[in-house]
Amino acid sequence: MDLGIAGRWAVVCAASKGLGKGCAAALAREGVNLVINARGADTLNETADELRALNAGIEVHGVVGDVTQASVRQALLAAAPQVDILVNNAGGPPPGDFRDWKQDDWLAALQANMLTPIELIRATVDGMAERGFGRVVNITSGAVKAPIDVLGLSNGARSGLTGFVAGVARQPRLAGRNVTLNNLLPGPFDTDRLRKAFSAPGQREKRLATIPMGRFGDADEFGAVCAFLCSVHAGYMTGQNVLLDGGAYPGTF
Ligand code: NAP
Repeated sequence: MDLGIAGRWAVVCAASKGLGKGCAAALAREGVNLVINARGADTLNETADELRALNAGIEVHGVVGDVTQASVRQALLAAAPQVDILVNNAGGPPPGDFRDWKQDDWLAALQANMLTPIELIRATVDGMAERGFGRVVNITSGAVKAPIDVLGLSNGARSGLTGFVAGVARQPRLAGRNVTLNNLLPGPFDTDRLRKAFSAPGQREKRLATIPMGRFGDADEFGAVCAFLCSVHAGYMTGQNVLLDGGAYPGTF
């Protein structure tokens, strides 16, 4: 299927590895020009080369820096002639017990997983509306739908973003101008982040046993769904939360 987005420009945040990289790769295969970002320069440059190798017809720019910093966000936006597609992503907050978290811990989680995406949405969606095409995909978490006790910082900050997106996606000045905003909710995907979470023996197997599909997700299959949400074919879908979790969530809806 031709997704109809070749030649568009996408900013993909936190994209040198894992799910962000999966999204960038899927967009690259569709002929989308990319601005990608991460804090580590070496891995970011390697990923940029891999993306160029996937499609020689696209431009790929890497912007090194922490996306929670305003100056880095400005550099990201300045690296694209226009932003047609925005994929919001950042590292997730650490696990823990809410009794131990101070206000600074909460502010860091809110900054990374709620306020940073909101700032980038604010900077891009009106331009998208003027041009009559825009796609925003926020990488959140399955924990928005089924909270995970030890990830309270993530549950809270990402739910704030989800509520904000639910409202703004329905503004006629965006929805009526072919600008969509949706959230992609990963369950367990086989990335560095997940691998690091399994420190004790047997933890990985225990987690696998909770997934009806009996396997972890792959960043490429996550990217494929992201690319579809960014496509012309997903133009009637906005304000939605799309869960990719191998069937782990037990509810009907
Ligand atoms: P990952 O494999 O660790 O990759 C994270 C990527 O983001 C790296 O490229 C990293 O590069 C970059 N990054 C992290 N913090 C950044 C920042 N502040 N500014 C710019 N770049 C940053 O993680 P992942 O598994 O893809 O997870 C992506 C998001 O999905 C996270 O928020 C995670 O909590 C969430 N999530 C993941 C899963 C899962 O199973 N994998 C499940 C639910 C939710 P640098 O370190 O060089 O900056």
